[in-house]
Amino acid sequence: MHWTEMYPEELKECMAEAGEKPFRGVQLFEGHHGKRKALEEMSNIPDRLAKKLGDAPYAVRIVKRLASKLDETKKYLYRLHDGEIVEGVLMRYHHGYSLCVSSQVGCKMGCRFCVSTRGGLIRNLRPYEMLDQVYAVEAREGISISNVILMGSGEPLDNYDHVLRFLRLLHDPKGKNMSYRNMTISTSGVVEGIDRLAEEDIPVNLAVSLHETDQSARKKIMPIAARYPLEELMRALRRYADRTGQRITFEYTLIRGKNDGERNIREMQSLLRGLPAHINLIPLNPTDHYDESRPAREEILRFQRELSQKGLSCTIRRELGSDIQASCGQLKAGCEAEETR
Ligand code: SAH
Repeated sequence: MHWTEMYPEELKECMAEAGEKPFRGVQLFEGHHGKRKALEEMSNIPDRLAKKLGDAPYAVRIVKRLASKLDETKKYLYRLHDGEIVEGVLMRYHHGYSLCVSSQVGCKMGCRFCVSTRGGLIRNLRPYEMLDQVYAVEAREGISISNVILMGSGEPLDNYDHVLRFLRLLHDPKGKNMSYRNMTISTSGVVEGIDRLAEEDIPVNLAVSLHETDQSARKKIMPIAARYPLEELMRALRRYADRTGQRITFEYTLIRGKNDGERNIREMQSLLRGLPAHINLIPLNPTDHYDESRPAREEILRFQRELSQKGLSCTIRRELGSDIQASCGQLKAGCEAEETR
């Protein structure tokens, strides 16, 4: 593991083993994650030690930046050390800046409507590659990001250890010092991951991509449902809510004539009964390879109203950056990355 991915305690140990003073480990952590300095700019680190450590790993580089003309949303393509490209979206809300972070190059979940999964899983991102997405955007925009949501490409719970290390590094008071409550993991429903997360004792938000209320229909749009059936998923979510006392967010992409009927409202009500939950409706975003469309605006509003009338907390996701294809499911690594300075 590279030193930029170690916790302060690990760095201290690593220093001691290298015959250095353990407190150098803390100085390195603060210099890199807190002050964002390159090794040679850390005046408290002796040259001798800097040489021993060598360069930081190749950082992710923003190779393309698209700015929305409709709102303040920005979309980025980042290049990784091996030439792979992942994407991110920066959104501005009243409470601050939120960055949508990618956790994998590609994805193996196979959701029919999602572009990121088209070419399957290429590889997991390292913790530093997720951290660097945050650091690169902060440096580029001269801002501080207050929230991260793991809703870029990839299934975060399929890269569990790296994702957890990323979040812990982001949380460390000597680094970015971000509250766990400002972090969201979004999953297509990886049950083992949900069970593990429940035991971590960190109050991150959990969002689940539900998209269907019936197992056999869900399997057709989300192949992962064959491995983790809805019933099993809901049991895991109940355990999670009991264990953590947290409310769970359900993402529900509305597909016209498929999952937007009375049946879905009834089934949703029974699925979520007694569970502290919030439903976030996402009108389907059109993509090239999926031949369905979103319901009309009135239909979306009606769906929301009916769920609310049943006592379910439910909102429609605001669409940001729609002119730069920044919306859910549209992030596409296929675009040719141009160098921008
Ligand atoms: N793998 C994780 C996180 C990435 S996807 C997950 O499945 O939750 C982030 C969200 O965007 C998910 O809810 C996903 O289902 C949704 N999404 C993907 N493609 C979409 C599309 N074309 N239209 C609307 N939402 C989409």
